[in-house]
Amino acid sequence: MDTRHVVVVGGGIAGLGAAWHLSRAGLRVTVLEGSPRVGGKLRVSELAGVALDEGAESMLARRPEGLGLVSALGADDLLRHPGTTSSSIYSHGGLKPFPAGQIMGVPSDLAALARSGVLDAAGVARAALDLARRPTPRGSDISVADFVGDRMGREVVDRLVEPLLGGVYAGRAELLSFEATLPQLAHATRGERSLIQAAKAVHESAPKTDAPVFATLRDGMGSLPLLLADALTKDGVEIRTGAVAQELRRTPDGWRVVLGPKTAPEAVEADAVVLAVPAAPAARLLAHDVPAASAELAAVEYASMAIISLAYRPTAFPEPLKGSGYLVPPVERRRVKAVTFSSVKWPSIAEKDPGLVLVRASIGRFGEETTLQRDDAELKADAMAELADTCAVGELPVDTRVTRWGGGLPQYNVGHLDRVARARAAVAGHPRLAVCGAAYDGVGVPACLATAKAAAVRIIDQLREVQP
Ligand SMILES: Cc1cc2nc3c(=O)[nH]c(=O)nc-3n(C[C@H](O)[C@H](O)[C@H](O)COP(=O)(O)OP(=O)(O)OC[C@H]3O[C@@H](n4cnc5c(N)ncnc54)[C@H](O)[C@@H]3O)c2cc1C
Repeated sequence: MDTRHVVVVGGGIAGLGAAWHLSRAGLRVTVLEGSPRVGGKLRVSELAGVALDEGAESMLARRPEGLGLVSALGADDLLRHPGTTSSSIYSHGGLKPFPAGQIMGVPSDLAALARSGVLDAAGVARAALDLARRPTPRGSDISVADFVGDRMGREVVDRLVEPLLGGVYAGRAELLSFEATLPQLAHATRGERSLIQAAKAVHESAPKTDAPVFATLRDGMGSLPLLLADALTKDGVEIRTGAVAQELRRTPDGWRVVLGPKTAPEAVEADAVVLAVPAAPAARLLAHDVPAASAELAAVEYASMAIISLAYRPTAFPEPLKGSGYLVPPVERRRVKAVTFSSVKWPSIAEKDPGLVLVRASIGRFGEETTLQRDDAELKADAMAELADTCAVGELPVDTRVTRWGGGLPQYNVGHLDRVARARAAVAGHPRLAVCGAAYDGVGVPACLATAKAAAVRIIDQLREVQP
């Protein structure tokens, strides 16, 4: 074993993923996690006796990183897939099916758009103008609302794209970067004037396979970091919880991470450091030695949200629930922005207790912080009122839970890609230092794991250049 010591700050999926690659390369690794538990935004707990995720509930199965990790952990038998992929949008007073062939809400088929009923006739007619319009001016980046709105009109933005961006980023189309949040469409529209045609090309280029698009684990996505932490501990990785990194300093031989209260600081010496924390703590830790990266990361904004989980008896629903759930556009002015019918979407949840219907409602987009400044009882009441309205729920839930995610999701606003490039360039100026996590190249679990691997590989390569 190489005795050189790498400290990973942050024990979310990115930090644990980085520790995995570093440890496999034979390095001595310590993970410092500030909270009492590992996993970050992946967390599972029981609701009415059934394991139900409090944060992320699935991962893309069309990217290799998440499934690859599960395989490497020898846990393929724990993988589970959705029982249904159909979902709806609440629009013009009721639930409407998602138009077939849409890419992050951008329609690729006008007939399917008209059939869905999500837009009114004027909205569909305006969307069709995309085919005839002049090219949309854009520099190196443009907001999603400006680009999609110019091509297809405001209704497509408001009723289709906005709810999807609200689901994935808890963000706003006027602020979010077209290049960073819809990268496939941004790329396709470089060579194609029409956004509909570009969306069609992206849709048609998707692999023709029946393989599921999403996956989870039998005991929830929140069980993934726990499995990973177990494997790391067996490999000799030290995982310290309740260890908040307060300071990072360059030393003649490497780095020093300072933990604990100012009155009783503890220094941890490292040959290399990986920062796998959200942008704000990364900015604080980099402020002394890498101020340029610190300034860039300090400007990344975050959205907060709450997940309200409810367990009902099946008799509460006059009709059995269909589909995986629905999204609500902000123009509808409802408090709840998304509802997942968890026990319909995931047969692996339903089979744990067929006598329950489990639902997760989500509240809070960027700029809606006041909606969250209310107590748990009020958030539960919002979720129950939503279900009473859309699903005619006529009973009280048998169990409820509110999980608040303050600063849960980074906002990839216009200019995000350039900002990340500048931050990375500043970090790259310092040997044996790397950053990873949701703040950089994608918020999904596989994207976070990809940044973790890249950070670990950078450290491994640099340590190889300087043999002990
Ligand atoms: C409600 C919600 C639902 C989501 N749903 C999905 C989904 O279904 N599918 C999907 O792919 N993605 C989803 N995401 C996104 C995804 O879960 C996250 O982007 C991802 O888990 C982030 O991982 P990370 O390791 O980069 O950061 P985090 O999970 O934030 O981990 C960072 C860790 O660093 C620790 N830390 C912070 N500061 C310090 C410090 N100074 N010292 C030591 N430790 C520190 C934190 O305590 C935390 O544990 C969701 C996110 C949220 C909030």
